[in-house]
Amino acid sequence: MKSKIYILIGPPGAGKGTQAKNIASNKDFVLISTGDLLRDNVGRKTELGVIAKSYMDKGELVPTELVTKMIKANIKQNIGKNGFLFDGFPRDLSQNSLLDEMLKEFDLEVDRIIYIDVKNETIYERLTNRRICPKCKDVYHMKYNPPKKDELCDNCGEQLITRDDDKLDVIKKRLDVYHNSTQPLVDYFEKMGKITKINGEKAPKEVEAEIISNI
Ligand SMILES: [Zn+2]
Repeated sequence: MKSKIYILIGPPGAGKGTQAKNIASNKDFVLISTGDLLRDNVGRKTELGVIAKSYMDKGELVPTELVTKMIKANIKQNIGKNGFLFDGFPRDLSQNSLLDEMLKEFDLEVDRIIYIDVKNETIYERLTNRRICPKCKDVYHMKYNPPKKDELCDNCGEQLITRDDDKLDVIKKRLDVYHNSTQPLVDYFEKMGKITKINGEKAPKEVEAEIISNI
């Protein structure tokens, strides 16, 4: 049986990483998360991992070509499995062409992309209200999971902080980059009738359940 290929796309703050893990385990899919793949190759000191680390040590982005090779090795290893769920790749049309080429070598193709649709305003609200304890790393949300007292950590009493990544101007920039690169990808798959849009406005757990029931 041919392996199914699914791609999960969603904005930062949609809980996509956790959802991807849970969906893959629920559906018995091989999860291909580029972040995990990189960490794993670097950790095991594979040939590709050693090269990737040389870029990371210099604070540079790991070239797409290298990431693609890691993905290919992973597919080769797991070929024949039920399916593959991609998280974090492809991010744009050019990465999608690379993926297409690679899949052809295995006589596979993308079956469907799952697009978690969330309004920018929702992302702002979720992320700008996030607070973290600089001491014990506890995470809070001023609306949904507030600390008991002011903005102090329940565990250690430390003053909570907002991570730089969660500041409004940083989030706006990340969302701009996200929308600019993924919109053409979404349009492309929409034309091919291969897109499943999921309402991402609900709680992350509900979104996850909806995805699982849709694939
Ligand atoms: Zn703390």
